[in-house]
Amino acid sequence: MPNEIMNGIVLRVTDYRESDRILNVLTREHGLVTVTARGCRKPNHKLSAFATQFVYGEMEVNDRFGKLQLSSAAVLESFYSIRESYEQLVSATQVTRAAERVAENDIANDELFLLLYNALTVIAYGENDPKDAELAFMAKFLRLCGYAPTLTSCVKCGKDVREQKTVRFSNRLGGSVCEACGGAFKSVSALALEAWRRMMMLDASELRRVRLPEVVRAELDSLIYNYAEYVFEFTVKR
Ligand SMILES: [Zn+2]
Repeated sequence: MPNEIMNGIVLRVTDYRESDRILNVLTREHGLVTVTARGCRKPNHKLSAFATQFVYGEMEVNDRFGKLQLSSAAVLESFYSIRESYEQLVSATQVTRAAERVAENDIANDELFLLLYNALTVIAYGENDPKDAELAFMAKFLRLCGYAPTLTSCVKCGKDVREQKTVRFSNRLGGSVCEACGGAFKSVSALALEAWRRMMMLDASELRRVRLPEVVRAELDSLIYNYAEYVFEFTVKR
């Protein structure tokens, strides 16, 4: 591959040798790529601004004996505020880690790319709790990965659960269970189920609208990550 231009988000950086850094980048054109940014840890190096976690930019890459090297890069969005807030940093780390687990080398996934880009934008600059954008990302991410849970009806008998006072949730069965069918499963509030449904259906560009009541946020944080841990063979949560 000759020099090629790619647009990507730096998911992870690993220091290497004296002044290099290896970057795991989610690109729009080629999915996950690993590139070496040679010399980027030297003071005032031209690649140092780009070779930083969460940065979105345009990079020019060349292939050196099968290994990709960064020859130049332009920062398009640094998401700088993420590095100044603990809550933002935690949420940004969660969404990038989740994206990295499912992104595939050399396979473009525009939906995943745009979802991550929008989530980082709202985590960095949104007006609501960054956790809300993180949970909305996870709801959409699970759906994108083919793991959308059933949230409107009972997975066992098919009865509509939206009007029911008590609803339960089963990771194994993949969704909500009515009281009559699932007394042993953990109960969930109608508000949390409704919020999950809405977040899952939201357009990625609308993540900034998500604003959860505190009690629902806490409930969904546990519910969604428990489910994610169950459906993936890996642990999404730190
Ligand atoms: Zn049922």
